[in-house]
Amino acid sequence: MGADVAKLSYRDISKSFGGTDVLKSISLDVEDGEMIALLGPSGCGKTTMLRLTAGFERPDCGSILKGNTLLSDQRNHVAPENRNMGIVFQSYALWPNMTVAENVAYPLKIRKLPEDQIDIILFNALETVSLLDFAEAEPAILSGGQRQRVALARCLVMEPDAVLLDEPLSNLDAHLREVMQRTFLQFHEQSKATMLYVTHDQAEAMALADRIAVMFDGQLEQVDRPQDLYRKPKTERVARFIGQSSILTAYLERKSEGERRDVVINGQVFSTRQSNEIALMPEATPVSLCVRPEHIRLDHQNGLPARVTSSSYQGERYRVALEMSDGTDVVAYSEHKVKPDELVRFTFENAWAM
Ligand code: ATP
Repeated sequence: MGADVAKLSYRDISKSFGGTDVLKSISLDVEDGEMIALLGPSGCGKTTMLRLTAGFERPDCGSILKGNTLLSDQRNHVAPENRNMGIVFQSYALWPNMTVAENVAYPLKIRKLPEDQIDIILFNALETVSLLDFAEAEPAILSGGQRQRVALARCLVMEPDAVLLDEPLSNLDAHLREVMQRTFLQFHEQSKATMLYVTHDQAEAMALADRIAVMFDGQLEQVDRPQDLYRKPKTERVARFIGQSSILTAYLERKSEGERRDVVINGQVFSTRQSNEIALMPEATPVSLCVRPEHIRLDHQNGLPARVTSSSYQGERYRVALEMSDGTDVVAYSEHKVKPDELVRFTFENAWAM
């Protein structure tokens, strides 16, 4: 077997339902052992990507490969049970009349493994998800997080090449989601499986994924490491979807030094980072600047004027919403309280020109 046995490759995948194009020519490589989050708003086609990967649907065009094995194209289709993939749904899908141990061991029994071998694998899987004490419990008495851990353990014992997770945390409360994120990271480390993780929660995607594939309307808009998505969003949509941002219209100055460029907003000069594409653009071209709230400094003397529209206390700081005279919304953080309708000025030290 080659080293990239569980690499998932999507080549120009399209899929429509009833005349509606749900996936439009998607190409993506998920490296062996990588965890990719498919992130996007409701209805953008994330679950359809997952179902095509699992083999529950067939693509209209294009092909899907696992390593060198063709899983699906217009003529060929490997059945879901022959793909060696684990699937974890938000609804857990546990058998209610079996104990935790029986649920987890079930796939091994089907494979007719010897009992002593099953016991060892079961012990390791339950230990990984911290459920050894619940081996004899029935799912009904477990919390949502514990049930999801049973589903993970069941997936782990199958030693899948790839694990597909469809919004696995969306039924859990905020605290449990955070705890479960750690469980997922351990699970990923232990299983070394290639993972495709569907979510519409950007914080979850940032915390878990090696790379995030941002989807809108059946297309991949940007696929990057979380840090790069945040620092260098390709489009305004991505900038608004990942983290908080203010989008300001600016005009390019001539002066350009590698990644940095001067820009003008309302007659004032600021310095920004720029993509290679922007670096080639001439002076006076209008661009959109993405400015993150932590890079904005409120000031009473210098900078661009704006009016405070709201200010909310967040414990460690205030989140302040501002409006510029042309209606542009700006989000900033402040250590000090500011009042709604107060007139302030702001500057920024870091921005990204798109
Ligand atoms: P959500 O986060 O809400 O689950 P999603 O990004 O996962 O959304 P999909 O479930 O992939 O989106 O659905 C994309 C579109 O395709 C939706 O408009 C949905 O109604 C439609 N769709 C998905 N499966 C089918 C199907 N089997 N038959 C008809 N339409 C479908």
